[in-house]
Amino acid sequence: MKRSLTIAKVAGVPIRLHWSFSLLVVFVALSSPGLTRSQVASYALWLVVLFASVTLHELSHSLVAMRLGLKVRDIVLLPIGGVSEIEGMGASASVEGRVAIAGPLMSILLGGLFLGLAGLTGASLWPPTLSVLGGSWLLRIGWLNLALAAFNLLPALPMDGGRVFRSLLARRGNNLRATRVAAVLAGVLAAGMIGIALLTNDFVLILIGAFVMLGARSEWQGAKLREAVSGVRVGTVMHPETTTVPGHVPAEQVAWWLAYYPGRAIPVVDEEGRYVGIVDHHDVAAVPPGTPVASAADREAPVLAPEADLFPSALEAFQLSGRQQLAVAASGRVLGIVYRTAVTSALSRAGGMVRSGP
Ligand SMILES: [Zn+2]
Repeated sequence: MKRSLTIAKVAGVPIRLHWSFSLLVVFVALSSPGLTRSQVASYALWLVVLFASVTLHELSHSLVAMRLGLKVRDIVLLPIGGVSEIEGMGASASVEGRVAIAGPLMSILLGGLFLGLAGLTGASLWPPTLSVLGGSWLLRIGWLNLALAAFNLLPALPMDGGRVFRSLLARRGNNLRATRVAAVLAGVLAAGMIGIALLTNDFVLILIGAFVMLGARSEWQGAKLREAVSGVRVGTVMHPETTTVPGHVPAEQVAWWLAYYPGRAIPVVDEEGRYVGIVDHHDVAAVPPGTPVASAADREAPVLAPEADLFPSALEAFQLSGRQQLAVAASGRVLGIVYRTAVTSALSRAGGMVRSGP
């Protein structure tokens, strides 16, 4: 997510504040004109505690995702909660279920810990206190975390509870049907939330209801697309192009070749013919004449395997690298090139089939 400020990095995961956070600060400032300075201070402290709790919840998702081999891009804190941006979620129902349950488990753990500490100080734990101002901090933090857990466990996609629910349904076999059932339930719950919100004039609940409704819709569309293109592999849209260039060749010679074939890129190989990186005309134009092309090559560009899925693997590789062409290779040997346009048009054809299908 763009337009955000990185405030910390934990285990390699950047934690960012979304720009709309500034709106929350303005909202709090405007809604508290009658408060004393110490009340404003404890209001601010409450917000810090709230977002520290949300961050720990999100970190728990991220750390479990990394343990299960997924890549975590970042954690973004929004005024209505946090979002962990995890690549490849949804590829496996059981992985998704485990990542989803990790957040609420952390909140339950924190809630239990703080209520336990409050109990030790002799505070009475019941009835729950969720007041923003006043009262024992231990009790309030404890109940806050339990409330976070309960809220996130609502079985409404794309919330944690909805993901857990879907992964349990998918155990019986059909992933797409599991998503449909989970998305329909999410729609019903979201409509209920918006109905209650309209009756009680609760603006935040309207936002959350809308978030759930739109999120469930995009989960359902993503699942349909995944189903439609499942089995479509990189190899089927690959251009079987085995022209490569040895790394010692001067970049300007390659520039001349690329100028002759606009829109092309060429894989660079070492003396043994193993893939090193890829260059297009931007890469070779960026280095002084006489530079070996190996030094101009993009070595970070993802290399696709012919059996990799078009969606989401290949699409994500293009989105993350920002390149228009990527090499396809198997055990270091170049097999061909895939063009971004070939991937997107194959996906939109499949998407079109989904929309016009029964
Ligand atoms: Zn969560």
